[in-house]
Amino acid sequence: MLLAANMTKVFGSSANSNEFVFVEAEQFENFGGWNIDQQSMERMGSPYLLAHGLGIPVEDATTKITFPSEGTYRVWVRTKDWVAPWNAPGAPGKFQLKVNGKPIKEVFGTKGADWHWHDGKTVKVGKNVTLALHDLTGFEGRCEAILFCKDHNFVPTDDIQALTKFRRKINGLPDNPEFGGTFDFIVVGGGLAGTCAAISAARNGAKVALVQDRPVLGGNGSSEVRVWPEGHTNKEPYPHVGDIVSEILPPISKGPGQVFNGVSAEYYDDNLKYQKVMQEPNITLFIENRAIEVKKAGDKITSIVIQHLRSAKHLELKASYFADCTGDATLGFKAGADYEYKVENLMGSSNLFNVLDATNKEEVLKCECKDKSALALKCEVGNFAQPFPRCPWALDLSDKPFPGRKGVKTFGSEGLQSFANMWYWESGFNKDQVNDIELIRDHNFRAMYGAWDAIKNVDKMYPNHRLGWSAYIAGKRESRRLMGDVVLDAEDFKTQKKFSDGSFPCSWHVDLHTPKTEFKAGFEGNEFVSDYTRGKEYQYGNLYWAPYRTLYSRNISNLFMAGRNISVTKTGLGPVRVMRTCGMMGEVVGKAASICVKNAASPRQVYEQYLPELIKLLSAPGKNKA
Ligand SMILES: Cc1cc2nc3c(=O)[nH]c(=O)nc-3n(C[C@H](O)[C@H](O)[C@H](O)COP(=O)(O)OP(=O)(O)OC[C@H]3O[C@@H](n4cnc5c(N)ncnc54)[C@H](O)[C@@H]3O)c2cc1C
Repeated sequence: MLLAANMTKVFGSSANSNEFVFVEAEQFENFGGWNIDQQSMERMGSPYLLAHGLGIPVEDATTKITFPSEGTYRVWVRTKDWVAPWNAPGAPGKFQLKVNGKPIKEVFGTKGADWHWHDGKTVKVGKNVTLALHDLTGFEGRCEAILFCKDHNFVPTDDIQALTKFRRKINGLPDNPEFGGTFDFIVVGGGLAGTCAAISAARNGAKVALVQDRPVLGGNGSSEVRVWPEGHTNKEPYPHVGDIVSEILPPISKGPGQVFNGVSAEYYDDNLKYQKVMQEPNITLFIENRAIEVKKAGDKITSIVIQHLRSAKHLELKASYFADCTGDATLGFKAGADYEYKVENLMGSSNLFNVLDATNKEEVLKCECKDKSALALKCEVGNFAQPFPRCPWALDLSDKPFPGRKGVKTFGSEGLQSFANMWYWESGFNKDQVNDIELIRDHNFRAMYGAWDAIKNVDKMYPNHRLGWSAYIAGKRESRRLMGDVVLDAEDFKTQKKFSDGSFPCSWHVDLHTPKTEFKAGFEGNEFVSDYTRGKEYQYGNLYWAPYRTLYSRNISNLFMAGRNISVTKTGLGPVRVMRTCGMMGEVVGKAASICVKNAASPRQVYEQYLPELIKLLSAPGKNKA
């Protein structure tokens, strides 16, 4: 891959100072054990590679590059010390850059709380070079890009806008997006809500684009985040609402006491969702693409610009109607839609994790650990010990209570049962869940690693257990909510307020989270365990049909929404946010969008003029006829 450029035009510099090689980490040919992370790209400017090894160094990421000429280049690596925001010691995310198999002297991931260019000094290269990112710890090292400069005095910028311009120019990417197609309906966000919206609209005749910024569909319900979908489907008077949800989710029912959060990947069946989408001739799927810009005319969105995560290629997609299923209301926010969001007393985000018992052959064989072969080998020779290093940079829980610690009961259970696979490892209650998600996710990591360190090294428990898997994509619960013609509140559920356009059934209680009191001490403002609302005042009977008017924007006239960013108040979010319910919102939005397309109507007009038609469609099967 050649990523070199003559930059004379950009900088007007002299003959020998004009050679750069800009290597995007996400464009490495082989990621090895590193993962691509796009969660914070608006904040820090790019996807990056993350060495998420749960304490065991991951395999090298490698790539080949060709330099414009051989010689001595100054090398810069864009990275950070991810625990520096808490002034924590030890820089756990250390990694090296290997050039032709030999590490350069500087160790990266050791400086700076913010993303910046870490100076790697100079390196002598020939024309063809192999680069490797060599992880030293397995503890969340991260690299965004590498820049080689012939001009040793050149210092790259940390300003995101200027850097974006620079990297696009140097990598030969055009200023303007290419045209990517015209659709009836564009759905942004391929969680349960977005996937169902796309399938539902496509089956009702609309030409649909589905844009998803991860390699898999399902959002929190995917194998990347591993939350188990709840909420009742297929209820009277519209028993077909829920058909698509039931079709794209695996047919597993929980037994008593069974936990389905954070279990092995196959339970979330990413492939089933993908296959169902691919079977729809009316859907064009833009996977690993993130919507980054919105274009408007008057009160309408006319197109969006999407960026491919690996190639950074921009495409402009046009449509008559759009659905914001991003969870964070990114599309609506960019379009100027009315929204509510206060960074205060929010429900937090979680990174679910599990542990495995190295003496249990079945668990070992199923393990998704990055060092799977080494682990299996140890078992074969009868050495099951799973040591874990001390983590001085993690939350210091050595003398603190936390779920899973000896003698601590959490929600009635204790031991490993209350440690792993649990939703309540949650943080960011007073942090910006949209823009500070890297920090929030990293705090979750510090809690998980700190707790495991205390269990293994202070309490000396579970010598043969190890962390088996943890999500590096944060599972979010609450951020922006877009405002529609009805803004539903928890009181409406409790009083069973009736709406003529009741269109999707809600069955979860008013489930709101706050930091759990018994684990707060010493971590005020940085809490890491949550509690949930329960009791009579948070119940509303078995079922509540929520109105269609919560599913479109009140001021952007061609914008729908489905999922956790619909038109509800802070308390109204509690009962609607479970995933089967979010999926059913998608089904309704897809059907309503098809009515809009057929009648050149707005989402609001579906309520005002075409409600009987919507009701007819809600009463019709969501599945394709076999
Ligand atoms: C730990 C945890 C436990 C929970 N427990 C449960 C439970 O037991 N059962 C349950 O049903 N619910 C549970 N919830 C709530 C539920 O998971 C969420 O409310 C639900 O996933 C919301 O669905 P969604 O489709 O709106 O959003 P998401 O599932 O977040 O999906 C949105 C998708 O859009 C993508 N996206 C975002 N921005 C862009 C963009 N700009 N361009 C392209 N794509 C984009 C995201 O990557 C994501 O894949 C839990 C949540 C958490 C975090």
